[in-house]
Amino acid sequence: MQLKRLGIMQRLLRKVPVYLKCLNKNKQKIGVRFISSSIPEDRVIFSGIQPTGVPHIGNYLGAIKYWVSLQQEPGKIFYSIVDLHSITIPRSDIPEHTLLSWAIGCVVPVNRLKILPQWQERMKQSKDGGHIGTFTYPVLQSADILLYKATHIPVGEDQLIHINLTNELAQVMNRRLLKPFFPRVHSISTSTSTRIRNLRDPSVKMSKSAYSEQTRIELTDSDDHIWRKIRRSVTDCTSEIAYDPENRPGVSNLIEIHCGFSNLTPDEVCADAKGLDTGQYKRVVADAVITVLAPLRQRFHRLRNDEGHLKSVLKNGADRAREVAVANWECVRRLLGLCA
Ligand code: ATP
Ligand code: MG
Repeated sequence: MQLKRLGIMQRLLRKVPVYLKCLNKNKQKIGVRFISSSIPEDRVIFSGIQPTGVPHIGNYLGAIKYWVSLQQEPGKIFYSIVDLHSITIPRSDIPEHTLLSWAIGCVVPVNRLKILPQWQERMKQSKDGGHIGTFTYPVLQSADILLYKATHIPVGEDQLIHINLTNELAQVMNRRLLKPFFPRVHSISTSTSTRIRNLRDPSVKMSKSAYSEQTRIELTDSDDHIWRKIRRSVTDCTSEIAYDPENRPGVSNLIEIHCGFSNLTPDEVCADAKGLDTGQYKRVVADAVITVLAPLRQRFHRLRNDEGHLKSVLKNGADRAREVAVANWECVRRLLGLCA
Protein backbone atom coordinates (compact mmCIF):
# COMPACT_ATOMS: atom_id res chain seq x y z
CA MET A 1 0.00 0.00 0.00
CA GLN A 2 2.76 2.39 1.05
CA LEU A 3 4.75 1.49 -2.04
CA LYS A 4 1.73 2.04 -4.25
CA ARG A 5 1.21 5.50 -2.73
CA LEU A 6 4.86 6.32 -3.24
CA GLY A 7 4.56 5.33 -6.89
CA ILE A 8 1.53 7.61 -7.34
CA MET A 9 3.36 10.48 -5.64
CA GLN A 10 6.37 10.01 -7.90
CA ARG A 11 4.17 10.03 -11.00
CA LEU A 12 2.35 13.13 -9.75
CA LEU A 13 5.60 14.91 -8.98
CA ARG A 14 6.80 14.28 -12.50
CA LYS A 15 3.64 15.93 -13.82
CA VAL A 16 3.29 18.85 -11.44
CA PRO A 17 5.77 21.63 -12.12
CA VAL A 18 7.43 23.10 -9.05
CA TYR A 19 8.92 26.53 -9.49
CA LEU A 20 11.55 28.52 -7.68
CA LYS A 21 11.33 32.28 -7.68
CA CYS A 22 14.38 33.74 -9.36
CA LEU A 23 15.79 36.95 -8.01
CA ASN A 24 18.30 39.19 -9.67
CA LYS A 25 21.25 40.60 -7.80
CA ASN A 26 19.02 43.38 -6.43
CA LYS A 27 16.66 40.73 -5.04
CA GLN A 28 13.96 41.69 -7.55
CA LYS A 29 11.90 38.80 -8.88
CA ILE A 30 12.76 38.27 -12.52
CA GLY A 31 11.37 34.87 -13.31
CA VAL A 32 10.82 31.31 -12.30
CA ARG A 33 12.92 28.22 -12.58
CA PHE A 34 12.18 24.55 -12.51
CA ILE A 35 13.53 22.37 -9.77
CA SER A 36 14.96 19.65 -11.97
CA SER A 37 13.56 16.69 -10.04
CA SER A 38 10.04 17.90 -10.91
CA ILE A 39 10.46 18.47 -14.64
CA PRO A 40 7.53 17.02 -16.55
CA GLU A 41 8.75 14.55 -19.14
CA ASP A 42 6.28 15.88 -21.73
CA ARG A 43 7.72 19.40 -21.47
CA VAL A 44 8.22 21.13 -24.84
CA ILE A 45 10.73 24.00 -24.91
CA PHE A 46 10.93 26.63 -27.63
CA SER A 47 13.45 29.43 -27.91
CA GLY A 48 15.12 31.42 -30.65
CA ILE A 49 17.77 33.91 -31.64
CA GLN A 50 17.62 36.48 -34.43
CA PRO A 51 20.23 36.34 -37.21
CA THR A 52 20.87 40.06 -36.83
CA GLY A 53 24.62 39.88 -36.22
CA VAL A 54 27.35 37.99 -34.41
CA PRO A 55 26.14 36.66 -31.02
CA HIS A 56 27.68 38.50 -28.07
CA ILE A 57 28.39 37.77 -24.41
CA GLY A 58 24.88 39.00 -23.45
CA ASN A 59 23.34 36.34 -25.73
CA TYR A 60 25.79 33.81 -24.28
CA LEU A 61 25.11 34.54 -20.60
CA GLY A 62 21.40 35.31 -21.04
CA ALA A 63 20.45 32.51 -23.41
CA ILE A 64 22.97 30.21 -25.13
CA LYS A 65 24.69 28.94 -21.97
CA TYR A 66 21.30 28.08 -20.49
CA TRP A 67 20.07 26.44 -23.70
CA VAL A 68 23.05 24.07 -23.58
CA SER A 69 22.28 23.06 -19.99
CA LEU A 70 18.58 22.51 -20.83
CA GLN A 71 19.66 19.87 -23.34
CA GLN A 72 20.65 17.66 -20.39
CA GLU A 73 17.09 17.75 -19.01
CA PRO A 74 13.98 15.82 -20.06
CA GLY A 75 11.62 17.13 -22.74
CA LYS A 76 11.55 18.06 -26.42
CA ILE A 77 13.50 21.16 -27.42
CA PHE A 78 13.17 23.45 -30.44
CA TYR A 79 15.87 26.13 -30.83
CA SER A 80 15.28 28.32 -33.81
CA ILE A 81 17.04 30.97 -35.86
CA VAL A 82 14.08 33.30 -36.06
CA ASP A 83 14.85 34.60 -39.51
CA LEU A 84 11.39 35.96 -40.25
CA HIS A 85 12.01 38.56 -37.55
CA SER A 86 14.89 39.82 -39.60
CA ILE A 87 14.87 40.89 -43.24
CA THR A 88 18.57 40.20 -43.72
CA ILE A 89 18.35 36.52 -44.70
CA PRO A 90 15.91 34.39 -46.75
CA ARG A 91 12.60 33.37 -45.25
CA SER A 92 12.15 30.55 -42.83
CA ASP A 93 12.45 26.89 -43.76
CA ILE A 94 9.07 26.25 -42.16
CA PRO A 95 6.29 28.41 -43.67
CA GLU A 96 3.76 27.14 -41.09
CA HIS A 97 5.13 29.84 -38.74
CA THR A 98 3.72 32.57 -40.97
CA LEU A 99 0.48 30.66 -41.64
CA LEU A 100 -0.26 30.33 -37.93
CA SER A 101 0.86 33.91 -37.37
CA TRP A 102 -1.71 35.09 -39.90
CA ALA A 103 -4.47 32.98 -38.26
CA ILE A 104 -3.61 34.41 -34.84
CA GLY A 105 -3.26 37.95 -36.23
CA CYS A 106 -6.91 37.73 -37.34
CA VAL A 107 -8.06 37.47 -33.70
CA VAL A 108 -5.79 40.05 -32.03
CA PRO A 109 -7.23 43.53 -31.45
CA VAL A 110 -4.89 46.26 -32.71
CA ASN A 111 -5.24 48.04 -29.37
CA ARG A 112 -3.81 44.99 -27.55
CA LEU A 113 -0.55 45.26 -29.53
CA LYS A 114 -0.41 49.05 -29.33
CA ILE A 115 0.13 49.01 -25.57
CA LEU A 116 3.14 46.65 -25.63
CA PRO A 117 6.20 48.49 -24.26
CA GLN A 118 8.54 47.52 -27.10
CA TRP A 119 6.14 49.01 -29.67
CA GLN A 120 5.72 52.16 -27.56
CA GLU A 121 9.51 52.42 -27.42
CA ARG A 122 9.82 52.03 -31.21
CA MET A 123 7.10 54.60 -31.80
CA LYS A 124 9.05 57.16 -29.82
CA GLN A 125 12.07 56.67 -32.10
CA SER A 126 10.16 56.33 -35.37
CA LYS A 127 9.55 59.21 -37.78
CA ASP A 128 7.19 57.32 -40.12
CA GLY A 129 4.76 55.73 -37.66
CA GLY A 130 6.66 52.43 -37.45
CA HIS A 131 6.52 49.33 -39.62
CA ILE A 132 3.77 46.71 -39.72
CA GLY A 133 6.36 43.94 -39.17
CA THR A 134 7.58 45.59 -35.98
CA PHE A 135 4.01 46.06 -34.81
CA THR A 136 2.95 42.44 -35.41
CA TYR A 137 6.23 40.83 -34.34
CA PRO A 138 4.79 39.67 -30.96
CA VAL A 139 2.11 37.79 -32.93
CA LEU A 140 4.77 36.00 -34.97
CA GLN A 141 6.63 35.25 -31.76
CA SER A 142 3.44 33.75 -30.27
CA ALA A 143 2.95 31.68 -33.42
CA ASP A 144 6.56 30.40 -33.16
CA ILE A 145 5.79 29.11 -29.67
CA LEU A 146 2.27 27.80 -30.28
CA LEU A 147 3.16 26.04 -33.54
CA TYR A 148 5.11 23.47 -31.49
CA LYS A 149 2.57 23.48 -28.64
CA ALA A 150 5.51 24.55 -26.50
CA THR A 151 4.95 24.52 -22.74
CA HIS A 152 8.17 26.13 -21.50
CA ILE A 153 10.08 29.11 -22.82
CA PRO A 154 13.49 30.23 -21.58
CA VAL A 155 13.25 34.02 -21.74
CA GLY A 156 14.86 37.13 -20.39
CA GLU A 157 12.85 39.47 -18.18
CA ASP A 158 12.11 41.80 -21.12
CA GLN A 159 10.15 39.03 -22.84
CA LEU A 160 7.84 38.00 -19.94
CA ILE A 161 5.20 40.38 -21.22
CA HIS A 162 5.19 38.59 -24.58
CA ILE A 163 4.73 35.23 -22.85
CA ASN A 164 1.63 36.64 -21.15
CA LEU A 165 0.40 37.79 -24.54
CA THR A 166 1.07 34.29 -25.97
CA ASN A 167 -1.10 32.76 -23.24
CA GLU A 168 -3.87 35.24 -23.94
CA LEU A 169 -3.75 34.53 -27.66
CA ALA A 170 -3.67 30.77 -27.04
CA GLN A 171 -6.90 31.10 -25.05
CA VAL A 172 -8.56 33.19 -27.77
CA MET A 173 -7.49 30.63 -30.37
CA ASN A 174 -8.68 27.72 -28.22
CA ARG A 175 -12.11 29.35 -28.03
CA ARG A 176 -12.12 29.69 -31.82
CA LEU A 177 -11.01 26.08 -32.25
CA LEU A 178 -13.63 24.92 -29.71
CA LYS A 179 -11.03 22.82 -27.86
CA PRO A 180 -8.02 23.36 -25.59
CA PHE A 181 -5.57 22.71 -28.44
CA PHE A 182 -2.77 25.02 -27.30
CA PRO A 183 -1.34 24.29 -23.83
CA ARG A 184 -0.48 26.91 -21.23
CA VAL A 185 3.00 28.39 -21.70
CA HIS A 186 5.36 28.90 -18.75
CA SER A 187 8.45 31.07 -18.77
CA ILE A 188 11.62 29.60 -17.34
CA SER A 189 14.73 31.49 -16.49
CA THR A 190 18.17 30.60 -15.30
CA SER A 191 18.31 33.45 -14.12
CA THR A 192 20.35 35.01 -11.49
CA SER A 193 21.88 37.11 -14.21
CA THR A 194 20.49 40.46 -15.24
CA ARG A 195 20.81 42.00 -18.70
CA ILE A 196 24.34 42.58 -19.90
CA ARG A 197 24.65 46.25 -20.82
CA ASN A 198 26.16 48.11 -23.76
CA LEU A 199 29.87 48.74 -23.05
CA ARG A 200 29.71 52.33 -24.28
CA ASP A 201 26.28 53.23 -22.88
CA PRO A 202 25.29 51.12 -19.85
CA SER A 203 21.81 52.66 -19.84
CA VAL A 204 20.85 50.26 -22.67
CA LYS A 205 21.38 46.53 -23.11
CA MET A 206 24.13 44.95 -25.22
CA SER A 207 22.64 44.17 -28.66
CA LYS A 208 23.72 42.42 -31.84
CA SER A 209 22.10 45.13 -33.91
CA ALA A 210 23.61 48.17 -32.12
CA TYR A 211 25.49 50.29 -34.63
CA SER A 212 29.02 50.02 -33.24
CA GLU A 213 30.69 46.73 -32.45
CA GLN A 214 32.68 48.55 -29.76
CA THR A 215 29.48 48.36 -27.68
CA ARG A 216 29.59 44.56 -27.37
CA ILE A 217 31.97 41.62 -27.03
CA GLU A 218 31.21 39.21 -29.82
CA LEU A 219 31.77 35.51 -29.25
CA THR A 220 34.28 35.46 -32.13
CA ASP A 221 36.38 38.41 -30.87
CA SER A 222 40.11 37.72 -30.43
CA ASP A 223 41.70 37.90 -26.97
CA ASP A 224 43.16 41.26 -27.94
CA HIS A 225 39.80 42.64 -29.09
CA ILE A 226 38.13 41.49 -25.87
CA TRP A 227 40.78 43.27 -23.82
CA ARG A 228 40.63 46.48 -25.85
CA LYS A 229 36.81 46.68 -25.72
CA ILE A 230 36.74 46.11 -21.96
CA ARG A 231 39.59 48.58 -21.42
CA ARG A 232 37.62 51.28 -23.28
CA SER A 233 34.26 50.47 -21.67
CA VAL A 234 32.50 53.38 -19.95
CA THR A 235 32.81 53.46 -16.15
CA ASP A 236 32.89 56.53 -13.86
CA CYS A 237 35.23 58.71 -11.83
CA THR A 238 35.19 56.55 -8.68
CA SER A 239 37.99 54.00 -8.72
CA GLU A 240 36.66 51.63 -6.03
CA ILE A 241 35.03 48.41 -7.30
CA ALA A 242 31.49 48.27 -5.89
CA TYR A 243 28.25 46.76 -7.16
CA ASP A 244 25.63 49.48 -7.49
CA PRO A 245 23.72 49.12 -10.79
CA GLU A 246 21.63 52.23 -10.25
CA ASN A 247 24.36 54.74 -9.43
CA ARG A 248 27.37 53.04 -11.02
CA PRO A 249 25.97 51.15 -14.05
CA GLY A 250 29.28 50.90 -15.94
CA VAL A 251 31.37 49.18 -13.27
CA SER A 252 28.34 47.12 -12.16
CA ASN A 253 27.99 45.84 -15.72
CA LEU A 254 31.63 44.72 -15.62
CA ILE A 255 30.92 42.93 -12.33
CA GLU A 256 27.89 41.22 -13.94
CA ILE A 257 30.06 40.09 -16.83
CA HIS A 258 32.77 38.90 -14.41
CA CYS A 259 30.16 36.94 -12.39
CA GLY A 260 28.71 35.36 -15.54
CA PHE A 261 32.12 34.13 -16.64
CA SER A 262 33.37 32.98 -13.24
CA ASN A 263 30.28 31.80 -11.33
CA LEU A 264 31.26 34.17 -8.49
CA THR A 265 28.72 36.45 -6.79
CA PRO A 266 29.05 40.27 -6.89
CA ASP A 267 30.03 40.22 -3.21
CA GLU A 268 32.83 37.72 -3.87
CA VAL A 269 34.02 39.65 -6.91
CA CYS A 270 34.10 42.93 -4.96
CA ALA A 271 35.94 41.32 -2.04
CA ASP A 272 38.56 39.87 -4.44
CA ALA A 273 38.91 43.25 -6.19
CA LYS A 274 39.56 45.19 -2.97
CA GLY A 275 42.46 47.57 -3.51
CA LEU A 276 42.22 47.48 -7.33
CA ASP A 277 41.23 50.56 -9.30
CA THR A 278 38.84 50.36 -12.26
CA GLY A 279 41.69 50.16 -14.79
CA GLN A 280 43.28 47.20 -12.99
CA TYR A 281 39.91 45.54 -12.48
CA LYS A 282 39.16 45.72 -16.21
CA ARG A 283 42.18 43.45 -16.79
CA VAL A 284 40.74 40.91 -14.31
CA VAL A 285 37.36 40.95 -16.08
CA ALA A 286 38.98 40.57 -19.51
CA ASP A 287 41.00 37.55 -18.27
CA ALA A 288 37.83 35.88 -16.90
CA VAL A 289 36.05 36.40 -20.25
CA ILE A 290 39.04 35.25 -22.32
CA THR A 291 39.49 32.06 -20.27
CA VAL A 292 35.97 30.92 -21.20
CA LEU A 293 35.69 32.35 -24.71
CA ALA A 294 39.07 31.31 -26.17
CA PRO A 295 38.28 27.54 -26.32
CA LEU A 296 34.70 28.28 -27.49
CA ARG A 297 36.10 30.45 -30.30
CA GLN A 298 38.47 27.67 -31.41
CA ARG A 299 35.58 25.21 -31.50
CA PHE A 300 33.43 27.74 -33.39
CA HIS A 301 36.10 28.15 -36.11
CA ARG A 302 36.54 24.36 -36.41
CA LEU A 303 32.79 23.94 -36.91
CA ARG A 304 32.49 27.00 -39.16
CA ASN A 305 35.06 25.52 -41.54
CA ASP A 306 32.96 22.38 -41.94
CA GLU A 307 30.10 23.88 -43.93
CA GLY A 308 28.79 20.47 -45.04
CA HIS A 309 28.37 19.35 -41.45
CA LEU A 310 26.65 22.61 -40.44
CA LYS A 311 24.21 22.41 -43.35
CA SER A 312 23.34 18.84 -42.47
CA VAL A 313 22.72 19.79 -38.82
CA LEU A 314 20.42 22.63 -39.95
CA LYS A 315 18.61 20.42 -42.45
CA ASN A 316 18.18 17.59 -39.98
CA GLY A 317 16.83 20.02 -37.34
CA ALA A 318 14.47 21.69 -39.83
CA ASP A 319 13.17 18.29 -41.01
CA ARG A 320 12.38 17.22 -37.45
CA ALA A 321 10.78 20.55 -36.54
CA ARG A 322 8.78 20.57 -39.79
CA GLU A 323 7.14 17.24 -38.93
CA VAL A 324 5.68 18.73 -35.74
CA ALA A 325 4.86 22.10 -37.34
CA VAL A 326 3.02 20.61 -40.31
CA ALA A 327 1.00 18.22 -38.13
CA ASN A 328 -0.02 20.97 -35.70
CA TRP A 329 -0.87 23.47 -38.44
CA GLU A 330 -2.95 20.79 -40.22
CA CYS A 331 -5.02 20.36 -37.03
CA VAL A 332 -5.49 24.13 -36.64
CA ARG A 333 -6.45 24.49 -40.29
CA ARG A 334 -9.08 21.76 -40.01
CA LEU A 335 -10.46 23.13 -36.75
CA LEU A 336 -10.74 26.55 -38.37
CA GLY A 337 -12.65 24.95 -41.21
CA LEU A 338 -10.03 25.90 -43.80
CA CYS A 339 -9.76 22.43 -45.38
CA ALA A 340 -11.31 21.65 -48.74
P1 ATP B 1 18.88 42.34 -31.63
O1 ATP B 1 19.64 43.61 -31.31
O2 ATP B 1 18.89 42.03 -33.09
O3 ATP B 1 17.50 42.30 -31.02
P2 ATP B 1 19.86 40.78 -29.43
O4 ATP B 1 21.28 40.93 -29.05
O5 ATP B 1 18.82 41.47 -28.60
O6 ATP B 1 19.73 41.14 -30.97
P3 ATP B 1 18.16 38.45 -29.73
O7 ATP B 1 18.38 37.57 -30.92
O8 ATP B 1 17.02 39.43 -29.78
O9 ATP B 1 19.55 39.21 -29.44
O10 ATP B 1 17.98 37.56 -28.42
C1 ATP B 1 18.51 36.23 -28.30
C2 ATP B 1 18.50 35.82 -26.83
O11 ATP B 1 19.54 36.55 -26.13
C3 ATP B 1 17.19 36.14 -26.10
O12 ATP B 1 16.90 35.05 -25.22
C4 ATP B 1 17.50 37.39 -25.28
O13 ATP B 1 16.71 37.44 -24.08
C5 ATP B 1 19.00 37.19 -24.97
N1 ATP B 1 19.70 38.48 -24.83
C6 ATP B 1 19.82 39.42 -25.79
N2 ATP B 1 20.56 40.46 -25.37
C7 ATP B 1 20.90 40.17 -24.08
C8 ATP B 1 21.66 40.88 -23.09
N3 ATP B 1 22.21 42.06 -23.35
N4 ATP B 1 21.82 40.29 -21.88
C9 ATP B 1 21.27 39.07 -21.61
N5 ATP B 1 20.54 38.36 -22.50
C10 ATP B 1 20.36 38.89 -23.74
MG1 MG C 1 16.70 41.46 -29.17
